[in-house]
Amino acid sequence: MIPYSRQQVSEEDIDAVVSVLRSDYLTQGQVVTQFEKAVADYCQAKHCVAASSATAALHLACLALELTENDRVWVTALSFVASANCARYCGAELDFVDIEASTGLISVAALADKLNQAALQKRLPQLLIVVHLAGQSCDMKAISQLCRRYDIRIIEDASHALGGNYEELPVGSCRYSDLCIFSFHPVKPITTGEGGAITTNNPSLAKRARLYMSHGIERDQSCFINKPTGSWYYEQQVLGYNYRLSDIHAALGLSQLKRLDKRTRERRELARCYQDALQGLPLSLLTTDHGNSAWHLFIIRVDKQERRALFEQLTASGFCVNLHYMPIPAQPYYVELGYDAADYPAANAYAETAISLPLFSGMNLEVIDQVVGEIHSFFRAKKTLS
Ligand SMILES: *Cc1c(COP(=O)(O)O)cnc(C)c1O
Repeated sequence: MIPYSRQQVSEEDIDAVVSVLRSDYLTQGQVVTQFEKAVADYCQAKHCVAASSATAALHLACLALELTENDRVWVTALSFVASANCARYCGAELDFVDIEASTGLISVAALADKLNQAALQKRLPQLLIVVHLAGQSCDMKAISQLCRRYDIRIIEDASHALGGNYEELPVGSCRYSDLCIFSFHPVKPITTGEGGAITTNNPSLAKRARLYMSHGIERDQSCFINKPTGSWYYEQQVLGYNYRLSDIHAALGLSQLKRLDKRTRERRELARCYQDALQGLPLSLLTTDHGNSAWHLFIIRVDKQERRALFEQLTASGFCVNLHYMPIPAQPYYVELGYDAADYPAANAYAETAISLPLFSGMNLEVIDQVVGEIHSFFRAKKTLS
């Protein structure tokens, strides 16, 4: 089976990991710090805090913002569930914003409408979480203009978008947000096995995220609440977690990061090949208006009457196509909490028509010929039937 995405691990990556295994520190050594610096530099952000996953990073970002059960959080209706779950971990009240049909990204128009209504009802959110679906940045400038008016914080879930740009800056620069999150799961632009990171330009947010990442324990004397009783002294100041990334993981990430630009260029080229080869077929592609996509996913949309059959034909031919995603409010957990996916018609329509085709760096160009060949034969067979 050809997967929709997969990791690419080089001999250098393996050597980097092995050298950590031969060293004195497997965790809490220098490699994590080096990786954090490399990610911050790459993204042109002031700070980076590595974490054990993007899910942990999202939780840490919410904790750094001091999110509680008294707060309201809005999240795009179409994403991986972790984008919303982080707000629930903090007990916050969650609501969803529908997507823009053409891009699959949060709809700025729907957000503006919902904010107007919420302002009248005095039910404004304290935090908005946006997702750069498929690697394309949301229109962060427009979103931040809307949010600034009501003093709403912004987290970017950029799990798909490391290597992408918005305007002239890399995604993760936090030019228009408080914090940005990345995932290093093997299907994502670079991998650490499991892993994630936060970037931010706000030193106190970075400091709080780091505090929560490691048990809420403070070791910096200048930040102690009480007077230290000796050189053994440290303080647990808040209820934190162990969300640390290990040096073994960080070594893989640091090595992978060196090839990120090359791999992004490769995926952009593969996406261009798909775009050319799919012309003239009765399907649509997501429009890419804002900045340069990292092309984590290549998504097509077909008529909902045809989606199941095409999906199954591609799977039967050995291509592990996928759906990214079911609307989050349609998940049983969220239905149980009282959410209704029918409130998000664009996200619903999207989920009934989308298919993610295989796209990853290192993928053979022939895969595109084969996948597009299958799609052609699918529509030809339909034509002869009708
Ligand atoms: C993969 C993903 C996550 C979770 O990432 P992990 O590193 O697996 O925790 C969160 N949000 C989105 C949009 C993702 O694609």
